[in-house]
Amino acid sequence: MSGLPRFNPYINGESVPPATGQYFETVNPYTAKVWAEVARCDASDANAAVEAAWKAFTTGDWPKINATGRGALLRKLGDLIAENAQELAEYEVRDNGKLINEMLVQCKYIPQWFYYYGGLADKIEGSVIPIDKAEMFNFTRHEPLGVILCITPWNSPLLLLAFKLAPALAAGNTVVIKPSEFTSTSTLKLMELVEKAGFPRGVVNVVTGFGAEVGSALVDHAKVAKVCFTGGTESGAMVYQAAAKGLKGCTLELGGKSPNIVFDDAVIDDAVKGAISGIFAATGQTCIAGSRLLVQDGIYDEFVAKLVEFAKTARMGNPMDTATQVGPVTTPPQYQKILSYIDVAKKEGAQCLLGGGPASGPETGDSPWFVQPTIFGGVTNTMRIAQEEVFGPVLSIIRFKTDEEAVEIANDIAFGLAAGIWTQSIKRALKVSAAVRAGTVWVNTYRSLSYMSPFGGYKKSGLGRENGIESIREFLQTKSVWISTANDVPNPFVMR
Ligand code: NAD
Repeated sequence: MSGLPRFNPYINGESVPPATGQYFETVNPYTAKVWAEVARCDASDANAAVEAAWKAFTTGDWPKINATGRGALLRKLGDLIAENAQELAEYEVRDNGKLINEMLVQCKYIPQWFYYYGGLADKIEGSVIPIDKAEMFNFTRHEPLGVILCITPWNSPLLLLAFKLAPALAAGNTVVIKPSEFTSTSTLKLMELVEKAGFPRGVVNVVTGFGAEVGSALVDHAKVAKVCFTGGTESGAMVYQAAAKGLKGCTLELGGKSPNIVFDDAVIDDAVKGAISGIFAATGQTCIAGSRLLVQDGIYDEFVAKLVEFAKTARMGNPMDTATQVGPVTTPPQYQKILSYIDVAKKEGAQCLLGGGPASGPETGDSPWFVQPTIFGGVTNTMRIAQEEVFGPVLSIIRFKTDEEAVEIANDIAFGLAAGIWTQSIKRALKVSAAVRAGTVWVNTYRSLSYMSPFGGYKKSGLGRENGIESIREFLQTKSVWISTANDVPNPFVMR
């Protein structure tokens, strides 16, 4: 035993050691030190979790709790998250190196998902169909699907889980969660609150470990009805294929390479802030990063000069320090990936205007995983640095002349998660937001998000939508019930 805190999977309302008896280390990206050990689950833990969730779905207290009661449980969980926001935020900072400022905002906002979907739980109404058959009564019921598998990435574990967990439970499903192997602890901490809120055993379960070892076993499990996945496009495609084999539903929230378009009539200082928030917030490790900055010819030089000056002021440092603006990269493989893309950009002939390598100094502490905020100018849209997701603080600036050219460049990419538009013209804002093929478009703002507004990707950025009223439908199936009011059963050889 190492003496470090150990985190076990949470199955059927209990924290139990993994079947393998094995644990892996989890590292604080700022101290570069192992701070805890997390259970390395395998297919047998996956099976135990899904069986527990299936049992909770079909028997026991959960199906007996009415929709209003489910809503009350969700709201109670929301209250508990709000009360424990500081502690949950600190877990995430320790595990993924995100800024305490950002995590506090997230953890204080997450309860809204549980209040919103808690409120929706008893408003899931079927309808009476004015059926065209004599002496027949027909109505619909919207029923839960069964066991929902939620697979989450490392960059915002609790927030991205809330997108899935709150509507899945509101609809009456039970859930198995597989958090990222890099950031499992906040999700396990959340289970203490799930228990305290009073959810029956087995309604929410967590198994930890690696995608190939336990994630795929969960996706393949016959009793999983639907997979809700957030992560990289490559793993998403694998999960989608595996889910298809079992004819399971699947929602996918995947990668992005979002265009942030600055027109020559934009308020330049606002757009500079929008560009900074698009790429350096969360150290660029966000699916909605505005990593392709398209700047119109007429303001290009002035805009880029101001942007570089602003970016130079970004303070790197300890993510627990509220003055820090850019933290470490979360994982060593991600750090290597970002540096390799910086090399690619240089080799492709992009002009490095700021940064362009690892960062070190007193502000980076013991962490070997800081990357300088990096800006490349003179990028063309065919370069890899313009087409592939870096998932780090690396910005590519592309120059354009006309609105048509901006839209063409914005859409000439495999992804379609988000886009930003900076302009003072309402006509331009409406035309361009309609023409850009992306699931979210922001005008004169960037990185806005709400439990009320649908979120999801076009093209290779995903399938299905999370958040908003409609997303509850992703967790329901419709049953049509026919009742004959006739006094006899007519000719049985003819369809009625
Ligand atoms: P990842 O795809 O490596 O892992 C995501 C999760 O999937 C992890 O829990 C992992 O263990 C699991 N997994 C991997 N392979 C699996 C398999 N074959 N079967 C089952 N589970 C498997 O992604 P990541 O590196 O953790 O996260 C970064 C990626 O996530 C980026 O590409 C980013 O754009 C994307 N992301 C998308 C959104 C969105 O909403 N669109 C939000 C955040 C992150």
